Amino acid sequence: PLPSKERDKGVNVQVVVRCRPFNDDELRLNGPHVVMCNEARREVTVTTKLLDRMFTFDKVFGQQAQQKDLYDQAIAPIVNEVLEGYNCTVFAYGQTGTGKTYTMEGPARKSKNAGELPTEAGVIPRAVQQIFHTLESQHAEYNMKVTFLELYNEEITDLLAPDEISRLVDDKPRKPLALMEDGKGGVLVRGLEEEVVYSANDIFNLLERGSAKRRTAETLLNKQSSRSHSIFSIIIHIKESNIGGEELIKCGRLNLVDLAGSESISRSGAREARAREAGEINKSLLTLGRVITSLVEHLGHVPYRDSKLTRLLRESLGGKAKTCIIATIGPSFQCLEESLSTLDYAYRAK
Ligand code: ADP
Ligand code: MG
Repeated sequence: PLPSKERDKGVNVQVVVRCRPFNDDELRLNGPHVVMCNEARREVTVTTKLLDRMFTFDKVFGQQAQQKDLYDQAIAPIVNEVLEGYNCTVFAYGQTGTGKTYTMEGPARKSKNAGELPTEAGVIPRAVQQIFHTLESQHAEYNMKVTFLELYNEEITDLLAPDEISRLVDDKPRKPLALMEDGKGGVLVRGLEEEVVYSANDIFNLLERGSAKRRTAETLLNKQSSRSHSIFSIIIHIKESNIGGEELIKCGRLNLVDLAGSESISRSGAREARAREAGEINKSLLTLGRVITSLVEHLGHVPYRDSKLTRLLRESLGGKAKTCIIATIGPSFQCLEESLSTLDYAYRAK
């Protein structure tokens, strides 16, 4: 690996780790804490009778860390970049049940009042609030669009499409959306809804709608959220004039990605029928890992094309784009194996 100074020059990947508190089951078992987080030293230590390993990351958030702490320290600077016209991506990576959705969205929203966010609001609502606050305080002229899609089994579903649920209920085959080259070096998803939004509440309503659709689809198709990736994207065009009075448009994009559970197929004891599915999910997760490793180690070839996830995010990974990976882990012995594998994955991205 390159010395870290060398890396910092051209790389915009930040890796942070968050360890959730003990849950009720773990409290009942009253087992040992095998994970220790030292936020000041940015270290995560995993200790059992048989092993003792220490990892250093860009930032570390322990069990006491609040949603606001993580947002202010790790995400707010990235959202500022988006408002400067850059593409940025935030990933939540980790074992199912370690807080990816909690970190990205927070608990399901009860009140629709955007004015004041609940303390448990996650990255997405906080980013939305920061974006609108900033644009309004600058009296900026802008327009904003949102897309929300799910990637399951290397197939893309539009979570904002109005007819998706009825199609599922009628048991008609799902029509996955096609991913195509746009001829300008990027990709586009044919037929993906781009909803124009005017306020934070507009976005919250879409987020709610898409998340509800994701849950309904899960129930109907008898699958768990753990096996799909979701990508929520906010695309902002801001009008600016330069000194000469010439009009310029800054375009920034923020992708907020809740990845599929990182647990391996071997561990979940997947049967034959599930094997393909698990393989496909791992394909996107493994390719993402390889893409990020290629970027941070400045390897010549970046294998974007090897999975849908990395093709979709190609223009927001690498180059000037800023990326933050939030790796989520559990504190207990029950999570040990998966926590170590998550920390190894995250460490390779650093
Ligand atoms: P994942 O999306 O990774 O499968 P969830 O976000 O659904 O995991 O989290 C699993 C459970 O743990 C949820 O009930 C969630 O509210 C809780 N949880 C996760 N992280 C935290 C945290 N940092 N603080 C409090 N509760 C958390
Ligand atoms: Mg989840």
